Amino acid sequence: MSSSSSTTNRRLEGKVAIVTGGASGIGASTVHLFLEHGAKVVIADVQDELGQALSDKLGDNVCYIHCDVSNEEQVIDLVDSTVAKFGQLDIMYSNAGIVNNDFGSILHAQKEQIERILSVNLIGGFLVAKHAARVMVPNKKGCIMFTASACTKIAGIAKYSYAASKYGIVGLTKNLATELGLHGIRVNCISPFGVLTGSDIHDETKKAMFDRIMGEVGNLKGKILKAEDVAKAALYLGSDEGSYVSGMNLVVDGGYSVVNPSLFKAIMM
Ligand code: NAD
Repeated sequence: MSSSSSTTNRRLEGKVAIVTGGASGIGASTVHLFLEHGAKVVIADVQDELGQALSDKLGDNVCYIHCDVSNEEQVIDLVDSTVAKFGQLDIMYSNAGIVNNDFGSILHAQKEQIERILSVNLIGGFLVAKHAARVMVPNKKGCIMFTASACTKIAGIAKYSYAASKYGIVGLTKNLATELGLHGIRVNCISPFGVLTGSDIHDETKKAMFDRIMGEVGNLKGKILKAEDVAKAALYLGSDEGSYVSGMNLVVDGGYSVVNPSLFKAIMM
C-alpha cells in the first residue's frame, strides 16, 4: 500500500465500485487506486484474459465480470452480480470506450461506423448509468461517473464521430445529474487530454513519439498526462471529498482547451 493511502487516509473505505473498461488503461489505473483506498472493485470488460489476470493479481476485494456495455442483458448481469457478491453498489465508473478507426472525411464515412462508436461510448454509458441508478435510487445515494474527453471542450483533437459520442456523454451527465439529484445521487464526467493506453504502452517507439508530441503541444510543460492522473480525478469525484459535486465535466488537460498561446508566444519571442 502506498503511503498516500495509509489506513487513516483510505478515501473509499467501505464502498463498492464498478469500473467498466477496467482491464486496461485509465480503467485499470482506477481499479488499482480505488482498491488502495479501501474499495471493493468489480472490473467489467470484454478483454477477459486481461481482466481476469488483473483481478487474480489484486486479491479477494476485486473480481472480474465479462460485460459488453452495449449489451443491456450483460449490464443487468454486471450490476446484479456486483450487488450479490459485495452487497451494494456505491460508485459506477462508466469508462469503457473505443476510438474510431480513422475512416477519413465524412464524405466517405459509412453509417455503420458512427453507429458502432455510439453504441459503445454513448449507448453503453446510458445502459450502465440506467442500471446503476436502478440499485442506487432506493438507497438515496450513489455516484455515477463517465469518461468523456477533452474533445468536448475544444475541437480538432479527435474525429467527429468520437467527439459526437463524448459530447453525448456530457449531455447525459448534466441531465442525469438533474434527475438523479432528486435521489441524492451525484453524476459527473471526466474529460482527459491524450493518454497513452492499451497495447501502445508496451511499444517504446510509439511511447517516445507520443511523449514528444504531447510534450510539444501540451499546455502544462514538463509533464505528460498518465492514466494514473485521470484515476486521481475519479478518486476525488468518487470519494466524500467530492460529496457536493454533481453535473460537472472535470477536464484533465493541463489547461489545453482554455488557452491559445499563439499571441503570447508572438509577443514574447
Ligand atoms: P484502453 O483501450 O486502454 O481501455 C478501454 C477499455 O475499454 C479496454 O479494456 C476495452 O477492452 C474496454 N472496452 C471496449 N469496448 C468495450 C465494451 N463494449 N464493453 C466493455 N468494455 C469495453 O483505453 P483508455 O484510453 O484507457 O480508455 C478509457 C476511456 O477513456 C475511454 O472511454 C476513452 O474514450 C477515454 N479517453 C481516453 C483518452 C486517451 O487519450 N487515452 C482521452 C480521452 C478519453
